[in-house]
Amino acid sequence: MEKKNLDWANIGFSYIQTDKRYVSHYKDGAWDEGVLTSDASITLSECAGVLQYAQTCFEGLKAYTTEDGRIVTFRPDQNAKRMVNSAKGLEMPPFPEERFLEAVEMTVAANAAYVPPYGSGATLYIRPYMFGSSPVIGVKPAEQYQFRMFVTPVGPYFKGGARPLTIRVSDFDRAAPRGTGNIKAGLNYAMSLHAIVSAHEEGYDENMYLDPQTRTKVEETGGANFLFVTRDNKIVTPKSNSILPSITRRSLVHVAKEYLGMEVEEREVLLSEVKDFAECGLCGTAAVISPVGKIVDHGTEICFPSGMEKIGSVTQKLYDTLTGIQMGRIEAPEGWIHEIPVK
Ligand SMILES: *Cc1c(COP(=O)(O)O)cnc(C)c1O
Repeated sequence: MEKKNLDWANIGFSYIQTDKRYVSHYKDGAWDEGVLTSDASITLSECAGVLQYAQTCFEGLKAYTTEDGRIVTFRPDQNAKRMVNSAKGLEMPPFPEERFLEAVEMTVAANAAYVPPYGSGATLYIRPYMFGSSPVIGVKPAEQYQFRMFVTPVGPYFKGGARPLTIRVSDFDRAAPRGTGNIKAGLNYAMSLHAIVSAHEEGYDENMYLDPQTRTKVEETGGANFLFVTRDNKIVTPKSNSILPSITRRSLVHVAKEYLGMEVEEREVLLSEVKDFAECGLCGTAAVISPVGKIVDHGTEICFPSGMEKIGSVTQKLYDTLTGIQMGRIEAPEGWIHEIPVK
């Protein structure tokens, strides 16, 4: 299989159309068998449930080439499971987990020429999503749905090393206390757009959202979970029903405990204690873990001792170990690495 002639190190994070995508339709109470198609466009009713009442959820994961040349994905079973949960939360018919895994294999294999080579730092981003496609005007769940999956190659997240981020404590809320914060719904992102655009305008990279009920506890950013390192070398990560359970964060917690022998606390984290931490990172599929150098709370600066020049040593160790596991340089826990059979 010949790779596409792309400038892997410089493709950035934007949509590049690839050859094939997967689609399955839900109608009359059942999913059809699903196919790969070359057609990258979707034709929909003007009244489709997704367009009127935002009935849609998604996932995000990556495929990459390991040191020994295999194409693999990282814990796709966890994405499959989370998407079932998201679908249920939005009254959509869940797409079966084993079929999700089969769709990942089919879509990645069909676009194997777009999987960036080992060592390029680039990866193939996989975007599964589903939405209500039949007309809905009175507020209720749609009767028909599409489950789809496309892939797009993305460049290395940290070009020329990880630059610590500056984030602000947001005056906006991301998710209601008993709302949809724990499911991967597009609507959570739609309402974060104003907050992120205004954060960027004011010179911040990201928003730290607090719990909307008391505004005293740390939740997450628009698309990544927090992980803190204490001054005595423990990991602390916020626990809340309204944060999205990041697979990367859960994997890093495992790595910290089982590979680095660190103590981990998953608990409520008060904003008032953040100043006592030694390091801070944001966890998600896109960057694995991005270092945070500074948090600004309405003019008060919280500067982590790791500084604004380089990634903290524990964050670096977590990053190196997890990416080592993903790339096949370090032995992975059972079931974490899913090889894509490519003919
Ligand atoms: C997807 C997502 C994350 C990161 O989850 P991963 O499984 O690690 O990619 C974190 N927060 C939100 C709100 C998300 O939607």
